[in-house]
Amino acid sequence: MLDVCIIGGGVIGTAISRELSRYQLQVRLVEKNEDVGTETTKANSGIVHGGYDAKHGSLKGFFSAKGNAMYPQLEEELHFGFRQTGSFVVAFNETQEQELHHLLENGIKNGARGLTIISGDQVREMEPHLSKNITKALLCTTAGVTSPYELAVALAENAAKNGVEFTFHTEVRGIEKVEDHFVLHTNQGPIEAKVVINAAGLYADRISAMIGQDDFKINPKQGQYVLLDKDQSFLTDTVVFQAPENGTKGVLVAPTVHHNILVGPNSDYIDEKSDVSTTQDVISKILKAGSKSVDAINTRKVIRSFAGNRASSDRHDFIIGETAVKGFVNVAGIESPGLTSAPAIAVHVADLLKEMGAELTADPNFDPTRKPYQRIAELSGEELQNLIAEEPAYGRVICRCESISEGEIVDAIHRGLPITSVDAVKRRTRAGMGRCQGGFCAPRVMEIISRETGLSMEEIVKQGEGSYLLTKRSKDALERGGKDA
Ligand SMILES: Cc1cc2nc3c(=O)[nH]c(=O)nc-3n(C[C@H](O)[C@H](O)[C@H](O)COP(=O)(O)OP(=O)(O)OC[C@H]3O[C@@H](n4cnc5c(N)ncnc54)[C@H](O)[C@@H]3O)c2cc1C
Repeated sequence: MLDVCIIGGGVIGTAISRELSRYQLQVRLVEKNEDVGTETTKANSGIVHGGYDAKHGSLKGFFSAKGNAMYPQLEEELHFGFRQTGSFVVAFNETQEQELHHLLENGIKNGARGLTIISGDQVREMEPHLSKNITKALLCTTAGVTSPYELAVALAENAAKNGVEFTFHTEVRGIEKVEDHFVLHTNQGPIEAKVVINAAGLYADRISAMIGQDDFKINPKQGQYVLLDKDQSFLTDTVVFQAPENGTKGVLVAPTVHHNILVGPNSDYIDEKSDVSTTQDVISKILKAGSKSVDAINTRKVIRSFAGNRASSDRHDFIIGETAVKGFVNVAGIESPGLTSAPAIAVHVADLLKEMGAELTADPNFDPTRKPYQRIAELSGEELQNLIAEEPAYGRVICRCESISEGEIVDAIHRGLPITSVDAVKRRTRAGMGRCQGGFCAPRVMEIISRETGLSMEEIVKQGEGSYLLTKRSKDALERGGKDA
C-alpha cells in the first residue's frame, strides 16, 4: 500500500512529488499521458511572476510571491533553465499609470520584491526596442523566465532519484474509499494508497467528483501564442506586460529561456478542455496588440503558434486542502500564476500532510541535486574534444538544426523516467525543435530510444496515446528481406 498517490504529472504534481521525496514515504505519481508536463504545463508563458499581480489575500497572491523567491535555489539544484530577466508592466497613458501604483501597493502587501516605478525613458534605456509611446513602467527585478516542461521533467527526475515511482499511460477512472485507504481504479489496474493528492489540472473537478466532492467546476480558458525566431531576440530580454485597461490585460512580449520571443496570450473561455487549436483571427489580434509594446513585430519571423488552456475554477482562486473525505487532498484550479507558485504550493502540501497526521520522517539520503545536461552546442572546442574522448556518442550529431548529439539523447533516456516517445526526447534535449521540426532526426531518435529501452520501433509514439510513427513493416521492405520500413 502506498502512503501517497499523486494524480497528475504537471508542474504541480511533479513539484509535490519532489517535495515528498524528502521524506521516508512510499509515493507514486500516476499520469494518463506518456510523460510529465504534457498538458497545461507544456503551453504557457513560462514567466516566473514577481508576485505583485494576484490580489493580496488570495492564495494566488500568497503562493506566487513565495514561489518566485524559491526559483534561484531550485535552478541551482535542478538546472532546468531559469533566467531572472526582470519584467515591466508598461503604461501608455495616465489611467494605466494609476494601475502601476495599484500593482506596486498590492505587490508590497504580497511580499513581492524588487519593485519600482520608472519613466518611459528609463525603460528604453534598458530595452531600446520598446515603444516610444510607453510613458511609465513598473519594473520587477525578481521576475524571470523558465522552461515549464523542462522544470516538470527536472522535478520528476529528481523525485525518481529519491524514490518516487512514476507510472505513465495510467488514467484514473474511479476512486473508492475503503476503510482507512483509497482504491484508485485505473486502466492499468487498481492502486491502493492512504492519501490521494488530486493535481489533475483541467480535469481536477472530475477527479474530485469521483469521491463525491463536486463543489467546484473547472472551466477551460484558452491562451494562444506566437513564437518568433531567435534572431528577433534583440526586441527585448525583459518580460513586457501591458498595464490593464478597461478590464483587459493586454498581451505580453517576452523572451523565452532559450532566447526566442513569445507574443500572447488571449484569454477566452472555450467548451472543450482538450482543444488547443489556434485560429488566424486570434493570432492576428495578438500580433497587433503585441506591436504596441515593441517597435515592430516581423510576422515573417513567426516560427509557430500554439495554445494552452488555463484550469480556471468557478472559485477564481487556487483550491488547496483536504476535502471532507479524510485523506483526499485537492490541489485544483491552479491557473496562472501556478507555474510560479508550484514550489511554494508543494511545500505547503507537505505541511498539510503533517497536519493531517501523516508521519513525515526526513530521509537522510535525500539528494536535492540533478546533474545538468552536457549540451555540446554550449561547449568550447576544447571542452567538446575532452567530452568526446570520454564518451564518443557526444561526437555524433543527431539533430543538425539544434546541434544535439547522441550522447545527450542517451543521457536523457537514462534519468529514471520511462521514455516512450520522440517528443519526450525533444522536450529534454531540444532534438527536433529547430527549423526542420524533426524531419531529419525523428527516425534516428526512434532508433536510439528503441536501442536504449528495448521498445520496438512500432511501440514508440510521437506524443500521446496512439500517435504511432510506424505501424507495421512495409510490404516492400518485407519482400526485400524483412527490414524495418
Ligand atoms: C495560457 C497560459 C499562460 C500561463 N502563463 C503562466 C505564466 O506565465 N506563469 C505562471 O506562473 N503560470 C502560468 N500559467 C499557469 C500554469 O501553466 C499552470 O498553473 C500550471 O501549468 C498548472 O499545472 P498543473 O500541474 O496543475 O496542470 P497540468 O500541467 O495540466 O497537469 C495535470 C496533469 O494531470 C493529468 N491528468 C488529468 N486527468 C488525469 C487522470 N484521470 N489520470 C491521470 N492523470 C490525469 C494530465 O494529463 C496532466 O498531465 C499559464 C497557463 C496558461 C494556460
